[in-house]
Amino acid sequence: MTHAENQGFNTRAIHAGQTPDPTTGAVIPPLYQTTTFAQDGIGQLRNGYEYGRGTNPTRDSLQTQLAALEGATHGFSFSSGLAAEDSLIRALLAPGDRIVMGNDVYGGTYRLIDRVLSQWGISNAAVDMSDLDAVRAAIAADNTRMVWVETPSNPMMKITDIAAIATIAHDAGAILVVDNTFATPYLQQPLSFGADVVVHSTTKYIGGHSDASGGAVITSNEEIAEKVGFVQFAVGAVSAPMEAWLTTRGLKTLGVRMDRHSANARAIAGWLQGRPEVEQVFYPGLADHPGHDLAASQMKDFGGMISVSFTGGEAAARAVAESTHVFTLAESLGGIESLMNYPSAMTHASVAGTELAVPENLIRLSVGIEDVEDLIGDLEQAFSTL
Ligand SMILES: *Cc1c(COP(=O)(O)O)cnc(C)c1O
Repeated sequence: MTHAENQGFNTRAIHAGQTPDPTTGAVIPPLYQTTTFAQDGIGQLRNGYEYGRGTNPTRDSLQTQLAALEGATHGFSFSSGLAAEDSLIRALLAPGDRIVMGNDVYGGTYRLIDRVLSQWGISNAAVDMSDLDAVRAAIAADNTRMVWVETPSNPMMKITDIAAIATIAHDAGAILVVDNTFATPYLQQPLSFGADVVVHSTTKYIGGHSDASGGAVITSNEEIAEKVGFVQFAVGAVSAPMEAWLTTRGLKTLGVRMDRHSANARAIAGWLQGRPEVEQVFYPGLADHPGHDLAASQMKDFGGMISVSFTGGEAAARAVAESTHVFTLAESLGGIESLMNYPSAMTHASVAGTELAVPENLIRLSVGIEDVEDLIGDLEQAFSTL
C-alpha cells in the first residue's frame, strides 16, 4: 500500500515510502546495505540508482516518510541533526548573511552557527523569540536571511508563535526554519503555520529508540529543496543505510509513542508541582506556563520533555540527577527510556558563560514510556536524598 495525502498521520507513518519489495514481495522494504549500483550499460541506471552518497533506496524510503509526516514535498536525511543544519545553512546562506535565532536554541546549534559558520562570514544574533518586538528589531538588520526557532525550546520549554514569526521573517525577506525535534510532526507541523523549512535531530523522538543517529531537512519549497539536495550530495553528510532503516522503523510508531510520552509527562509535571523541593516546573502542558495557550493552539499535545528547578540550588539539582535508578543519567532525549540530564554541565556545557547559559539549579527530564508509577516512584526516592 502506498500513502495518500488525505490519510491520517499514523497511516502515513506506517505506509509512506514503504511499498513492498517488487522482487520478493517482502512487506518491509529491505536494507540496501550497498555503496554502488550495477549499470546495464554506460550511464544506464536502474531506477536512477548510481552511487550511495547520491541516492540509496533505504534512505529514499525514510525521506519519503519524513516529508509525508511534515506535510511536505521534500525530505533529506543526514547523518546527524547538526549535519542536517550545517548542510541547510551552507546551502542557503553566503558570507555576509545573518541568522537570527532564539536565545535558548540547542547548544550545538548555537555552537555551529556562532563558532563554525561565523568563520565563513555568517553573523548571528540571539533573541527571546517570545518577545515579538525584540524579534522585529533583531531582524531589521537588512542582511538577515534566516530566522531559527525551536519550540518548545531546550531546556527552558519556551513556546514561540510560529505563525507570527513566519510573518515577521517573510516581511523582512528572511526564511523561517523551525527545529521541530522536541514536538515531532505528530504534535506540531510548522510548515502549516508558515515556516519554510523544518529540521530534526531524528536521533531523538523520530528514531525513538536511542540506537540511530540522524538528522533531517524537510520543505515544500522547490528552490530550497534543490539547493539542499545539491549540498547533501556534494558534501555527503548522508545517513548510512542501516541508520536510515532503523529510523524508518522507529518512525512508524511515533504517534503511539508521543501519546504515551505526553501522558506520562503530564502526570509527572503535576506531581512535581506539588513538591516542596521544587522551585519551578517548566512544562507547556501546565495551565500556568506562560506559553500554555499558544502551545495548545499549535500543538496536538505537550510532549515528553520537562525541566525543573530546585529551591536547594545547584546542589539539589545535581543530587537528584545522580540519584535516580529508572531515569538514566545521560545526554540525549526522545527515546522510549526515561533520561535525566543536568543541562548546565552536560547538553548545554558549550553555552556556559554565554547569553544562552542554563541555570545551575535545573534538571531536564526526557520522560519515557515506562509505567508512570515507576517513574514517579523513582523521582520520589531521588528527592528523598535531599
Ligand atoms: C540533539 C539536537 C540537535 C542536534 O542533533 P544531533 O543528532 O545530536 O546532531 C538539534 N536540535 C535539537 C533540539 C536537539 O535536541
